[in-house]
Amino acid sequence: MNPILTDRKGSVSEIGESALIARIKAALGEATPPTPRGMGDDCAVVEPRANLITCDSVVHMKHFDDEADPELVGAKLLKRNLSDIAAMGGVPCDAVVALFAPPLLSAEWVERFAKGLAKCALDYSVAIVGGDVAECPTLAASLTLTGRARRPLTRGTANAGDILCVTGPLGGSIRGHHLTFTPRLEQGLFLSMNGAITACMDLSDGLAKDAPALAGESLAAVLDIADIPPSQEALELTEGDPEKLAQSVLCDGEDYELLFAVRAEGIDAFEDDWIARFGAPFFRIGRLAARGDGPGLIDSATGKAPANAHGYEHLR
Ligand SMILES: [Mg+2]
Repeated sequence: MNPILTDRKGSVSEIGESALIARIKAALGEATPPTPRGMGDDCAVVEPRANLITCDSVVHMKHFDDEADPELVGAKLLKRNLSDIAAMGGVPCDAVVALFAPPLLSAEWVERFAKGLAKCALDYSVAIVGGDVAECPTLAASLTLTGRARRPLTRGTANAGDILCVTGPLGGSIRGHHLTFTPRLEQGLFLSMNGAITACMDLSDGLAKDAPALAGESLAAVLDIADIPPSQEALELTEGDPEKLAQSVLCDGEDYELLFAVRAEGIDAFEDDWIARFGAPFFRIGRLAARGDGPGLIDSATGKAPANAHGYEHLR
């Protein structure tokens, strides 16, 4: 649905801020608790139970286009943040949301967006406790989410020799996965409870950029590229061309799977536990090695940085 109308009829500027907020509150329904925890005061009064906080956004024509269902855009905004909580081994708690609205933004679009956000919030037991609406030339929304983790998983904490793994197939997310993905909260929680896991992050910018971020400054991510599981969409988009497929799994981004490091001596026992819990294996895609002066990402087949591999670099 195109969110931007051609005239004021049905736009947010026709109904005004107060009516728009009332419609958003109605659309959020049970996803927003009663005041003082929910909408209606200057701040939300929340329980001091969180030790994680994250913030992520969706911007029109960058993270969604005019073809996207507004409900899926609302859910995506929350799921991007849920994926970050999953990456830390956390459970989500409360969210506040800011909407940046052009004057000709469709009020119906906002209502459907809020309904999609609310359904996702109820699915994952997140309370939408407040927010803001601001006029802006470009349509965008930003959400801040708190969470709690008993043992937060971090980046840059793995050791040379640890095995690199991913929770699911990569590449081709432009075909729809970037809107319909499931944040890996159960997997992240399971990872956080096992001492053999030394580092974790979610894959949003592409493995080529994210794997060196997980490795940190002193280690290199050595990838067995042929072992990286491609999504069905990546296989279709690249029509079996091995070079294009490698590019797709390394660089497409918005995979929202978890990338994690496991101590080599603990991985077989952990894999048995994982399969018992989830009924399917994770994927071993390489290992971490001392970096020295070399690149942070290495193709194990050549011993060099993969050709043309770069993840999504923001602001370039
Ligand atoms: Mg992340």
